[in-house]
Amino acid sequence: MRALVYHGPRNVSVDDVPDAKVERPTDALIKITTTNICGSDLHMYEGRTDVEEGKVLGHENMGEVIEVGEGVDRVKVGDMVCLPFNIGCGFCKNCENGLTGFCLTANPGSAGAAYGYASMGPYNGGQAELLRVPYADWNALVLPDDAREKERDYVMLSDILPTGYHGTELAQVGIGDSVVIYGAGPVGLMAAISARLRGAAEVFVIDRQPDRLKLVEALDATPIDDSKGDAVQQILDATRGEGADRGVEAVGYQAHDHEGHEKPGMTINDLIQAVRPTGRIGVVGVFVPEDPTAKDDLAKEGKFAIDYGTFFFKGQSMGTGQANVKQYNRQLRNLIHRDKLQPGLIVSHELGLDQAAEGYENFDNRLDGWTKVLLHP
Ligand code: NAD
Ligand code: ZN
Repeated sequence: MRALVYHGPRNVSVDDVPDAKVERPTDALIKITTTNICGSDLHMYEGRTDVEEGKVLGHENMGEVIEVGEGVDRVKVGDMVCLPFNIGCGFCKNCENGLTGFCLTANPGSAGAAYGYASMGPYNGGQAELLRVPYADWNALVLPDDAREKERDYVMLSDILPTGYHGTELAQVGIGDSVVIYGAGPVGLMAAISARLRGAAEVFVIDRQPDRLKLVEALDATPIDDSKGDAVQQILDATRGEGADRGVEAVGYQAHDHEGHEKPGMTINDLIQAVRPTGRIGVVGVFVPEDPTAKDDLAKEGKFAIDYGTFFFKGQSMGTGQANVKQYNRQLRNLIHRDKLQPGLIVSHELGLDQAAEGYENFDNRLDGWTKVLLHP
């Protein structure tokens, strides 16, 4: 089969690799119809993870079931399914509690598995013609009859929509709240949609990319351009000097100032300033325990200084981690089906799989107008 393979920093290509297949009775085999490039893929693409060369990338996957193992009961050949980026077993302590982003079975010795991702187990990704789905009855979300018609909306259930929602859940966004979101990438934009869905009165999204800030406006939120003046001050000014009720971090450890200087603690420290006393902060931007190619010694160990004194003094709290996609994807699917949600609005490019390397390069350069890239094998 054809698949997008990682060969080293900024070096990916679509190659012939052995076909994915059913390996265990609980597996399903999916013919991929849409697979997205994610901001998380860019950490690997830029050589900022320990992902092994030869790995097939791709964790935002949707497609048609073409074969099931003999132990699969619920999912049927012909079903259109969307796969959570997390691979869960369904029977460990964490999966039982809905914490499928931290499955204790699928990636032994660690908590959490995913398709085509660094440190998340031996699984290949779905930027390919075929994908093996372990524990298929548990993991596959079956889509309704309009699956093909609304493909660009439903595919967002694999990751960014539930992840943006998870950010607002960790921050406990509720009705009437003001919310500040750092990052207007796909995840930040989905957090903005989610904050609205949960009844927020005001949603501010900070970035400096004009195309992304334009989408913020289209989603009925307020764009804040931090290249045009201090973002924290703009939030304080807009909230009577109090700060926003809730904050969401949707940038991660490669956060940088608007001139491009990387500062891994920047968004967390800004959130501590921009969120009101006793407010909650949800962190879904990725942070890593080791970052060997980072510029300073602390950052190499995944560490940075945070303004803990202010955080404590303000009585704030913070929730973090990978999104447990299965906690939300069914409910969000129903909203898409009933035309209440259109996450596909942010899609800028739909390419063939053979154009994947070009998609990576342009999305990674945050080229104007490249806001979300979908690949169709
Ligand atoms: P992206 O890289 O496309 O978007 C990040 C945005 O942040 C960019 O638009 C960039 O301009 C902006 N930015 C950078 N520094 C900033 C700063 N200091 N202040 C404000 N904005 C800043 O990525 P994405 O796809 O939106 O993903 C965002 C983060 O979420 C990544 O770290 C990704 O790995 C992570 N992620 C986490 C999960 C999860 O389960 N927790 C799932 C998916 C993605
Ligand atoms: Zn993703």
